[in-house]
Amino acid sequence: MGLKEKTVGDLTEILGPESIISDDGAMRIADPIMVRTYAKAFGYVPEHRPLCIVKAASAEQVSKTLRYCSDNDIHVIARTGASSSEDQLLVIDDRTIFIDGSPMNRIVDIDTENMVVTAQCGTPIAALEERLNADGYTLGHAPQSLPLASMGGLVATRSTGQFSTYYGGIEDLVCGLEAVLPNGEPIAIRPVPRRAAGPDLRHIAIGSEGALVFITEVTVKIFKWYPDLMWKGGYIVENFKTGLAAVRDVMVKGYKPSVVRLYDKADVDHNYGSVKLKNEEAFMFFTVEGPGGVPEAHGAAIHQIALSYGAEHIGVKAVDHWFLTRNRICDTIGTEKEYVKFRETNVYNATLEICANWGQIGEIYDEAMRTLPEVIPELVMLGGHVSHSYMNGTNVYFVYALKMGDPASAHLAQYRFVDAVCDVVLKYSSATIVHHHGVGKMRAGRIREELGSSFTLLEMLKQSIDPGNIMNPGCLIPIG
Ligand SMILES: Cc1cc2nc3c(=O)[nH]c(=O)nc-3n(C[C@H](O)[C@H](O)[C@H](O)COP(=O)(O)OP(=O)(O)OC[C@H]3O[C@@H](n4cnc5c(N)ncnc54)[C@H](O)[C@@H]3O)c2cc1C
Repeated sequence: MGLKEKTVGDLTEILGPESIISDDGAMRIADPIMVRTYAKAFGYVPEHRPLCIVKAASAEQVSKTLRYCSDNDIHVIARTGASSSEDQLLVIDDRTIFIDGSPMNRIVDIDTENMVVTAQCGTPIAALEERLNADGYTLGHAPQSLPLASMGGLVATRSTGQFSTYYGGIEDLVCGLEAVLPNGEPIAIRPVPRRAAGPDLRHIAIGSEGALVFITEVTVKIFKWYPDLMWKGGYIVENFKTGLAAVRDVMVKGYKPSVVRLYDKADVDHNYGSVKLKNEEAFMFFTVEGPGGVPEAHGAAIHQIALSYGAEHIGVKAVDHWFLTRNRICDTIGTEKEYVKFRETNVYNATLEICANWGQIGEIYDEAMRTLPEVIPELVMLGGHVSHSYMNGTNVYFVYALKMGDPASAHLAQYRFVDAVCDVVLKYSSATIVHHHGVGKMRAGRIREELGSSFTLLEMLKQSIDPGNIMNPGCLIPIG
């Protein structure tokens, strides 16, 4: 009996037939929706396919599956919304199953006294946000993938949202969680406002990308929601560098905008029909949220700071346009409509997010804009924007398009682009190659350089939690 037949047979016996999907059609489309979809648009089938997909309906089913996989050296890729962008879900061998947590989609408890919500890992964030909004609350977490992603994946990728400058990233929101270790043992980290009992164990799960534990349930903060009080302001500045200086000033003076975005001209021309920029000009906008008094006060101060950098105030039309279109890409990604576009244009559009302190981010942006076109011949468009700012620095999202040759090797062009950005970023002491999409299999080759001497801690964690290396091998931590 082959490995597939044996694994499917055993898991069917353990979990019941309704929990197992193993037909070849489903296995072909099981893995990533990102660059590999370019090849799929031209009819290529993935080199490796999962043996089966376990649709896990409970922590107990996850536990039984992991125990089986541990005992039988079967590799496991955890999945919830399947929107990951860094090849986290790419199957790289012929002994892998998916554990799909999407059936675990129950909102367990909304606790408005203590301002937390508990939800199972497969709860779609859009459904959770909608439910909270109905009662006047928000998660404050709004990734662009909001229509696709679920709570387990969002925690596992250390995701961040479009309003992060006010609410924080997922690491600021998670209060507690439940998970299952690779050997099948369930664990719980109780939600408390703060804990000083040693290292923060939440962070072993947050950002672990399915390489350490399977997250079954999360408890995250909620906030009072004041959508009608939001302050918004859109501006054109002389150039990207001036915009960076203005954003830095807003942040270091202690104002708390929720959205802070700064786009260079190439990015605006690519994404914003509604804003027309001349020469080197850049477009930036801010929103401020909070209870009455806060948005007006912070908004007025931010407006004055923007004007002090020579910004032209263009009102809110372009900001409203962003609100209307901000998640639209999720309607087409991985669909036939996208495939048709790939076949007509041979162009693949993507983004890559890095982060650095204020002292280095401008130089990194300049160096990347100057050198990437020289080393990536497939590059037909390159722009950038800032979307998550902090007191001590900010991110840059590189937005790029590659003219692809042979569809089967299209991903290699993307990997070369990613490597070229890493080459630039890793020269800087206060910069990171990844701001919020996770490392996946795409940037795993560079994580040793990223973490430097502390990489050994990550290796030790992996070795002690997952000694058999069954959890998403090659993701986050490279093989070998
Ligand atoms: C169009 C688009 C826009 C995006 N915008 C953003 C953005 O604004 N901000 C952002 O942070 N990210 C963004 N992403 C990336 C992606 O959506 C996020 O990483 C998201 O967190 C993935 O959630 P998911 O439920 O889809 O996870 P999946 O894709 O299913 O999984 C993602 C990773 O988490 C692991 N995982 C999933 N579930 C579990 C679990 N229960 N236990 C343990 N590990 C698990 C997987 O193994 C994998 O490594 C975007 C992606 C797309 C396609």
